[in-house]
Amino acid sequence: MLEKSNESLPLPSSQPYHSYRNKASTKYPKILLGILFLLATVINFSPSFSLNNIKQYGGYVSFVDDENWIDRFEQDDLENWSKCPKQPKPLYPNTIWNLTDKEKSKVISTYQKAVQIPTESFDDNGEADEDPRWKPFFQFQNWLKNTFPLAHATANIEYINTLGILATFEGSDPSLKPLLLMSHYDVVPAPKDTFDRWTYPPFSGYNDETYIWGRGAADDKPLLIAQWEAITNLLENGFKPRRTIILSHGHDEEEVFARRGQGQIAPFLEKRYGKNGLLMVIDEGSGTTDDFYGTPFAIAGMGEKGYMDIVISVATAGGHSSVPPAHSGIGIMSQIVTALEDNPFPTKLTPASPLLTSLQCASEYSSNLPSKYSKLLKKEGPKSYPKLANLISKESLKEKAMVGTTAAVDVIQGGLKVNALPELVNTLINFRIDFTESINSTQTHVNALISKIAKKNTLNYYGFQNENITSLADNEDKYVKVDLLGLPLEPAPRTPQSGGIWELFAGTVKAAIPGPNGTERIVTPYMSTGNTDCKMYYNLTKNVYRFMGSPTEGSFNAHTVDEKFSIDGYLQIIKWIHAIIQNSDAYTGEE
Ligand SMILES: [Zn+2]
Repeated sequence: MLEKSNESLPLPSSQPYHSYRNKASTKYPKILLGILFLLATVINFSPSFSLNNIKQYGGYVSFVDDENWIDRFEQDDLENWSKCPKQPKPLYPNTIWNLTDKEKSKVISTYQKAVQIPTESFDDNGEADEDPRWKPFFQFQNWLKNTFPLAHATANIEYINTLGILATFEGSDPSLKPLLLMSHYDVVPAPKDTFDRWTYPPFSGYNDETYIWGRGAADDKPLLIAQWEAITNLLENGFKPRRTIILSHGHDEEEVFARRGQGQIAPFLEKRYGKNGLLMVIDEGSGTTDDFYGTPFAIAGMGEKGYMDIVISVATAGGHSSVPPAHSGIGIMSQIVTALEDNPFPTKLTPASPLLTSLQCASEYSSNLPSKYSKLLKKEGPKSYPKLANLISKESLKEKAMVGTTAAVDVIQGGLKVNALPELVNTLINFRIDFTESINSTQTHVNALISKIAKKNTLNYYGFQNENITSLADNEDKYVKVDLLGLPLEPAPRTPQSGGIWELFAGTVKAAIPGPNGTERIVTPYMSTGNTDCKMYYNLTKNVYRFMGSPTEGSFNAHTVDEKFSIDGYLQIIKWIHAIIQNSDAYTGEE
């Protein structure tokens, strides 16, 4: 059992963190409350990291305590995030679009047609003008143009990097920051060999009167089409925006590296509007639920874990399998994998996590929050956080993933023949980085664990040094090397949960999507699990909402067989987008 001897936390970062997290020392409010809060958090958070549940791998436990994560945040923010945000009054838009039956069948059939265009994006896609797999994307652009002629005629349409779609509805007052609505029109491929497992063909857009079925029926075409339907209806009714409205659609959101679509559009817009030049960005994400522990909620993605992929290589001498060493390359890689899995990142729940904020909202407003949670929160305050983290981690794997950094060993390659020792073994691992941690702290953990295993096996160790195998010295063909695969991503900045734009967002949600029988819907920050394209926009606004506006219960099987999405959910998105466009246009508060 490892004893933890000081109050600071494991997996520290010694590198500069996101600039928004680096302001701590300059702006500490020196008020008693702040200091008390700091003390409370330091004292009370630390037991969560007692590491009692962490097994040691041959004495290799590697958590190094040399920096406190709390220093990365402003105390004001931590204090704010540890409470449920103030609920604004419902903010009713000028007009509410109650669709007639005729309008409903029209918007539904448009949505079906969008699903029927097979805009599959592949990780190995070539250039837009060379790879024929992009053909359906051109088809989709044309179809969109023909389907929404008024909006296309009104907006300035730009095709960024050929396939990115940017529609700018210029406002009359250029001093107002634009509202940007995002969605992507690529879909995860539906491989031919899975077609027979689909209830309805994946590009049929089949309507069974409750759901629309097909690849992209949930992710992300209902949102995209709802955006065009809502703006079209407003334009048809004479709406002339004061504030510029932008629809922005990437075409490679589902690709591993996603650099062609929003990866190009966001920097383009940053040049046009400047840093922090947008009022608000709304992207795909979570939605509403009428049963958040018994009460109608809207759970808005206002924070997101970080992301990092690594490749671990073990290079050994190889040779004939008649004279094997005690541990072959595969054996050594096994030690590494076992060490990583046996030394998981600590379970934690802190105000940096939107999950804690949503629990506070549930504790305040929900009728059914399990008493084991509510009692702890109410009685013990911050002291309860480590205990809550522990409870949550035991609920399910999904919930466990919400309270700490996860590491998933996903690919392993090594060996060619049964009579030859492998010379090179590679493993790919995916990390989802907790809100209190960073790319650097995750790398520190990896380095500490793996370097010791390399040493034990008398292999040189190169951790995140971007060493080329060919550049390693000749006598160093035996080594363990860890490199990044693709670009890692820090945990997202938290979306502010107070102020005018929060009130605009939450007030509009309450007005456009009330709970059953007109009851009030509580709006809470929540954590988003995927890393969507909105990560490209962090320079353009801090007001990023990953919120689709449909019931979370109405979306099924995104990314897999039998993807489907509820028609009522789709109609709800239209209503929500219709309202937020108008309310953003009317918004006169702080930008
Ligand atoms: Zn998506």
